[in-house]
Amino acid sequence: MMEAVLILMYVYAFVVGCCMASFINVVIYRVPLGISVAKGRSFCPSCQHQLHALDLIPILSYICLGGKCRYCHEHIGMRDTLLELLGGLLGMLCFYRYGFSMMTVIAFAFVMLLQAIAFIDLDTMEIPNGLVVGCFIIGFISIPFLHIDMISRIIGIFIVSVPLIVLNMVIPDAFGGGDIKLLAACGFFMGWVNVLIGMFIAVLLAGGYAIYLMLSHKIDKGGHIAFGPYLCIGMFISLLYGSQLLSSYLSLFGL
Ligand SMILES: [Zn+2]
Repeated sequence: MMEAVLILMYVYAFVVGCCMASFINVVIYRVPLGISVAKGRSFCPSCQHQLHALDLIPILSYICLGGKCRYCHEHIGMRDTLLELLGGLLGMLCFYRYGFSMMTVIAFAFVMLLQAIAFIDLDTMEIPNGLVVGCFIIGFISIPFLHIDMISRIIGIFIVSVPLIVLNMVIPDAFGGGDIKLLAACGFFMGWVNVLIGMFIAVLLAGGYAIYLMLSHKIDKGGHIAFGPYLCIGMFISLLYGSQLLSSYLSLFGL
């Protein structure tokens, strides 16, 4: 009986995740263009035809329509559908980590904001302030549920962001202002230890990718890559498994 309830909960987390990610796709598309996310039905980017409710069912609509617009038969890119699938998987992962608790909802809301931030940064090299404010709000909501003391949260705001501001004074535009604000928000949400771990993961991932791009001559030394997506991955891993990662790392040195 308990197993059936658990399976049902994972299915529920997946479906909710897909639907939320479908809304996040609207955010990713509309926020950089300054279009309201609340008003107006979605439309086909090729023929501008308003989409029917049946065209908007996450994943299923794409499969049923064979990846084409119902009205103009233009191919629809796979990205939105893959992001809906990712949202479903992230929903399940949050439930796996936190189970029946408010932290599942908080972690999921946070990762959906990160999904929007990561893809807007990839598309436009900008991180909208409104989404960073959203991360701060999640930080406030998490206070009774995520047991990180206030001093750790306040140190978290400054511990990475301030050194990056100083670095930017030495090397102009080394980091985007949006990255720095996002780091401050994440520091407030998860405390100084986790934001450091998240930053460490982000630097490893982004550094690895930048080295690959340079070796394959796809980017020159002065080129920029969007750092936001790596920050988002790092922060999410750190929120879920930061303390476990830290203790396994320290145990390597017998600490
Ligand atoms: Zn169309």
